Amino acid sequence: MEALKQSIQYIKGVGPKRASRLSKLGIKTLQDALYYFPRDYEIWQGIKKIRDAVRGDEASFVVTFDGRASSQRPRRGLTITTWRCRDDTGYLWCVWFNQPYRARLYRNDKLYFVRGKIEAKYGMLQLHNPVVEEYISSKHDGLKIFPIYPLTEGITQKDMRNIIASALEKVEGSLNDEFPASIRKAFRLAEKNFALSNIHFPRTVESLKEARRRLVFEELFYIKMALSLMREKNQMEQQGLVFKWDHSKLENFINNLPFSLTNAQKKVIDEVLQDLKSGKLMNRLIQGDVGSGKTVVAALGMYCAVLSGYQSVMMVPTEILARQHLSSLKNLFSNTDVKVECLVGGMKNSEKEDVKSRLTSGDIDILVGTHAVIEDDVIFNRLGLVITDEQHRFGVRQRAALKDKGQFPHMMVMSATPIPRTLALMLYGDLDVSVIDELPPGRKPIKTYHVPSSMKSRVLEFIRRQVAEGRQAYMVCPLVEESEVIDSQSAVELFESLRNGELADMRLGLLHGRMKPHEKEQTMEAFANGQIDVLISTTVIEVGVNVPNATLMVIENAERFGLAQLHQLRGRVGRGDHQAYCILIADVKTTEVRERMKIMTKSNNGFEIAEKDLQLRGPGDFLGVKQHGLPEFKIANLLRDMEILKEVDYAVKRILQSRDDPQYQSLMEYTVKKFNEQIAEITLN
Ligand code: ADP
Ligand code: MG
Repeated sequence: MEALKQSIQYIKGVGPKRASRLSKLGIKTLQDALYYFPRDYEIWQGIKKIRDAVRGDEASFVVTFDGRASSQRPRRGLTITTWRCRDDTGYLWCVWFNQPYRARLYRNDKLYFVRGKIEAKYGMLQLHNPVVEEYISSKHDGLKIFPIYPLTEGITQKDMRNIIASALEKVEGSLNDEFPASIRKAFRLAEKNFALSNIHFPRTVESLKEARRRLVFEELFYIKMALSLMREKNQMEQQGLVFKWDHSKLENFINNLPFSLTNAQKKVIDEVLQDLKSGKLMNRLIQGDVGSGKTVVAALGMYCAVLSGYQSVMMVPTEILARQHLSSLKNLFSNTDVKVECLVGGMKNSEKEDVKSRLTSGDIDILVGTHAVIEDDVIFNRLGLVITDEQHRFGVRQRAALKDKGQFPHMMVMSATPIPRTLALMLYGDLDVSVIDELPPGRKPIKTYHVPSSMKSRVLEFIRRQVAEGRQAYMVCPLVEESEVIDSQSAVELFESLRNGELADMRLGLLHGRMKPHEKEQTMEAFANGQIDVLISTTVIEVGVNVPNATLMVIENAERFGLAQLHQLRGRVGRGDHQAYCILIADVKTTEVRERMKIMTKSNNGFEIAEKDLQLRGPGDFLGVKQHGLPEFKIANLLRDMEILKEVDYAVKRILQSRDDPQYQSLMEYTVKKFNEQIAEITLN
């Protein structure tokens, strides 16, 4: 097995230079190469007769060349070489451009295999720049399937095929299959060596299907199994803290809220309170569209903890959001003696030390923070409730790390990203789910428009009008790639050009991930206080930020964002009493883009949008790069592979039931190892 960890550099045909190119594709070891799956296949149907040639098709023929080739030079720099060939049903002309040597390459007394796209010119069937090889029956007859790989600069399709073929040759048939024969038989799974060899170089369409099925099964199996083990662990720790609180205080708190709770909020709060006092350990996902009012649900849970003598912690993905939560929680708790504090990476060391020591002494009741709160030296006094907000930004591992801060604390995870049911089962198989399926009353649906970039000056005019009416606007600048450095740069450029140009007379603000924490904070505060009219920003404002007077969200290059992300961004507006607008600037180049923009302009419903997004782009892209907290799927597609997922569920259950059976031992060990490796890859936001 050690062979699999061998560097790709030592594969035939790969040296240091290619190795470094391959590493850009994530191929570093022999194993990576074997699991670098084709994105598609080129299928050569068998040999055709010329009589059956269809214009426009790619096809192969076995022919002899007639007489001699002729070459013409219709103009400087262009040589056209034409050679007639035949089989027993008709004629075909091979045509090569600027390859005069072809005329000397072939003989009249041999059979050749020719392949290319069929064109019809002047009533003649032609193949342009065809592939020509001496015909060998064993090589050319029958169906041929070739892999098509995603590539990078300096690696051609042919290189890649050779590299993968060498990698396969190296391990040839010697890989150990983690799935025991009994499981393979029960679930009709192809053997591992067969699967890997046939996913790359399928011998038949049928063997490709079998190979794919096995690899999809395998991929889903490891994740499902690991999550099931986690769930089991949670269930073993079922015994939960029993919270007991003074009901009149809680009622008082609710009555003092600046609004009355929606029925959906009440229902979910009920479910939460039920868990907290039941003695059962709470593991609950709270799902609610942007603006549905999840924060106050969290606040109520935390208040119960405080009243029961426990601390709570709320982990959020960005510093801006942490500070925003701090201020809204302080507001909500202003009539109580609850102590709320914040811990983020950007704080001064002395401040951090102060917060940490007050946490340990039990002086702080509620802590809000970024992943700074899961660092080792953060020690709670009596942690009873842990919450993650905007859960999709965190991985399973961080959720676990947060939990480990207390002794079996209750857990609540909040997500504005409406996750379709299949995906939710995969991601959160270990959680109970509550849904806030109602928005607070009086919210006017956001009006969304899609415009081409040529209308930018009209968009700027619209910004002007909103500002003149006393409103504020966000402008999200193009997402160049998933890189904070480059995105920040593009925000700076947009900011500079607007400040020196069309919006020179307005109060503009700039916000991006590379700014110092206190600068971000100042800018956000100024925007919240109405001292900035237009905030030009990267996607750092995507999650959670709440400024009710902002009514306009302009998103440039909207086609580069996932629908779920666009919906999140749009959710930053429409939080106050005024009509809100979202303008998506996108030049339509494909029907897919048009379709996506149409969904956004038609729907304000996050769940609906998420389902559509999943259908259009598949789960790999859903939520943008690596945001769902699971490793990206290499081959599985949850939409297409639902049936396999069901079988995986069944297999996992069956294996867990008889896990002590020695035949499953290595599979179980491998699962744990693999899962640990994968979650280690998940990026921290
Ligand atoms: P999200 O679910 O996106 O986290 P928030 O908790 O930030 O939503 O709430 C969005 C806004 O709605 C906040 O300004 C909050 O004060 C307000 N809000 C929450 N619940 C209600 C309600 N029941 N009635 C009116 N406004 C509410
Ligand atoms: Mg929120």
